[in-house]
Amino acid sequence: MKAEPLVRIKNLSIKYHTLEGEISALQDISLDVKEGEFISIVGPSGCGKSTLLNALAGLLEPSAGEIMINNQRVKGPTPLVGYMPQSDQLFQWRTIWKNVLLGLEVQNKVTPETKAYAAGLLEKYGLKEFMHARPNQLSGGMRQRVALIRTLAINPEILLLDEAFSALDYQTRLLVADEVKQIIDEEHKTAILVTHDIAEAISMADRVVVLTRRPGRIKSIHTIELTCSVKTPIKCREAPEFRQYFNLIWKELDINVA
Ligand code: ADP
Ligand code: MG
Repeated sequence: MKAEPLVRIKNLSIKYHTLEGEISALQDISLDVKEGEFISIVGPSGCGKSTLLNALAGLLEPSAGEIMINNQRVKGPTPLVGYMPQSDQLFQWRTIWKNVLLGLEVQNKVTPETKAYAAGLLEKYGLKEFMHARPNQLSGGMRQRVALIRTLAINPEILLLDEAFSALDYQTRLLVADEVKQIIDEEHKTAILVTHDIAEAISMADRVVVLTRRPGRIKSIHTIELTCSVKTPIKCREAPEFRQYFNLIWKELDINVA
């Protein structure tokens, strides 16, 4: 790991300008993320979680403060960052292989090398035999894995996951979260996951960042240390410390207070 953080968010504030006036979505967010870290961000609905990921992806300009990636100020979309949205957003009229190549096509980076890398990912993660299938022939979990591989195919250093599992049913969500975590670890990526699911956040992360209601500010940051022999999200849920983190973060989110 490098001494310098891979991502440095410094006093970031974001406001939306609407016809009704200004909406302050995020206020004075500062956070450093190290290379290889897995960060989960939790917060009430509408507190600015997606706004934060959009800013990290270079899709929204800060109203104040700045975001640095690899010591460079983020000024627009960068290939260093890959975005995995809530729904898999695979195109039905394209095969799995053509879907996986989409990100590379958009970035004009389809070369024999990048194609070989993408094909290797499909093989490594058990999807090679479905290369010529259409998305509707795959289960929801498999489609989500394809969406991840499409994001990985552009070889980003940082993966942003916005409620990436919330469209899946509970059982599938657990399994897909396990797979995704394993793939992210194996490919040595840095990840920032936004979720409203406290258990999911704790089970996957090195640190959990809790945001306040809008305008989202950092309420607390928890370093997660769980005693589990096998470090997979499903197994980590059984760790003795899990409940303590859960209760603590639950209270901080203040979900019952209107
Ligand atoms: P979260 O992902 O935590 O649910 P968002 O980041 O989507 O929250 O939104 C934060 C706040 O900013 C919300 O109140 C939302 O209504 C508002 N907002 C989001 N996008 C826009 C936009 N394009 N224009 C105006 N307001 C927006
Ligand atoms: Mg959101």
